[in-house]
Amino acid sequence: MADMWNPLLERMPRDRLERRQIRKFRAQAVYVYENVPVFRRKLDRAGIAPEEIDSFEDIRAVPTTTKDELRRAQETSEDGSEGSAERTDRPTEAEPTPYGELLAVEPTAVREYHQTSGTSGTPLRQADSGRDWEWWSDCWATVLWSQGIRPDDRVFFPFSYNVFVAFWAAHYACERIGAEVVPGGNLSSVERVELMDDLEATVFMTTPTYALRLGEVAEQEGIDPAATSIERIVCAGEPGASVPGTKAKLEDRWGATVHDHAGATETGAWGYSCEGDSLGLHFNEAQFLIEVVDDDGVPVEPGETGTLIATPLDRHAQPYLRFEQRDRVRLEEPSACDCGRTFRLADGGVLGRDDDFTTVNGVLLSPTAVEDVVRQHDGVADEYKIVIDHHDEKESDVVTLITEANTQDVETVRTELRHRLKQACGLSFRITLRERGALERPELKADRVVDQRVNHV
Ligand SMILES: [Zn+2]
Repeated sequence: MADMWNPLLERMPRDRLERRQIRKFRAQAVYVYENVPVFRRKLDRAGIAPEEIDSFEDIRAVPTTTKDELRRAQETSEDGSEGSAERTDRPTEAEPTPYGELLAVEPTAVREYHQTSGTSGTPLRQADSGRDWEWWSDCWATVLWSQGIRPDDRVFFPFSYNVFVAFWAAHYACERIGAEVVPGGNLSSVERVELMDDLEATVFMTTPTYALRLGEVAEQEGIDPAATSIERIVCAGEPGASVPGTKAKLEDRWGATVHDHAGATETGAWGYSCEGDSLGLHFNEAQFLIEVVDDDGVPVEPGETGTLIATPLDRHAQPYLRFEQRDRVRLEEPSACDCGRTFRLADGGVLGRDDDFTTVNGVLLSPTAVEDVVRQHDGVADEYKIVIDHHDEKESDVVTLITEANTQDVETVRTELRHRLKQACGLSFRITLRERGALERPELKADRVVDQRVNHV
């Protein structure tokens, strides 16, 4: 049986786990009803009495929460909205806070400020209390422990954390586990590689894109990444570590095991890969209620793909109910993994953001399927772009893969890529091969799909 951070929760029998989820969801719904006006209005409008929630069916009647809705709730009450005055647990003369109507606690209870990246609009501000911060680090310790991080590890963080929560939470989780932490912000990629090597770090945490980049930089500096002391790479922020081609490429380059995690500022660290056989993420169902639903909001069956709705079950300062995460996942039963956890899985990890999935000539294009093909081919380098355009005369879409050739035999590479992409995606790709180093090397996450169609569907 696998070694777990909290075996009692991670191995809890399904019936007990599900009863616990319903009980905790109800308690959280009562809490937000009493303390967050925007949720009270929503529940009132839907005719829901939170204390009466007693089944998953009752939970599905609770309206979902969108990111736009949360943004609006922060914007309105900053200029003194009616929302703040509706609260019963705070004096009506309370000063507006940066968190607007979403704050469920006294402002003095807030201990941590973070915000979302803002890639899809205005950043959302996220307040966390001391209790929340303990919870964050516990969720992250669950992730890291399952991936083999122990007190004798030296964990390197090759980032400046700034206002983004994930690395801070992971940093504190390492401390909680008792591992040594090296914050490697404000350094160049070369300096980071050298420092990791000098200190004999055993783990580093990063996006898959940057892990590939650091490996490339190490090789350019004459350091063989596979010969360094790095034993594990913990990935986040992009699907890559659950994409077989990318995972294999990283493990080969670094001579290390590669692990995946998924989370969001609004909800928390909700998914993690384990030491078991599955190539996917367990949902942390002790701390989150995770629903995977189709476009009509109906729960999907195991083996099917849907979009993810997450409710953190213990969030205190800025809690949410049924947040539309907009991550696409393929649901699997716990039995799909042999580690002994009773948590269900996202088979193949996060397949992409809902927005990343686009239809090309009537076929749904999966970005991770393209990634897998590119990363498995030895004839091309790490970076690539997918450009989608519309051909007016032929009245059809044209999808082009742009990447860099590693070899002189470009015709063979082009033919093989075209064939493999057709098999994996059901689409005919054009292939453009550039010289090694021609494409930009992102330092954090990469935006690899460029849709140039004017009225794309
Ligand atoms: Zn497992």
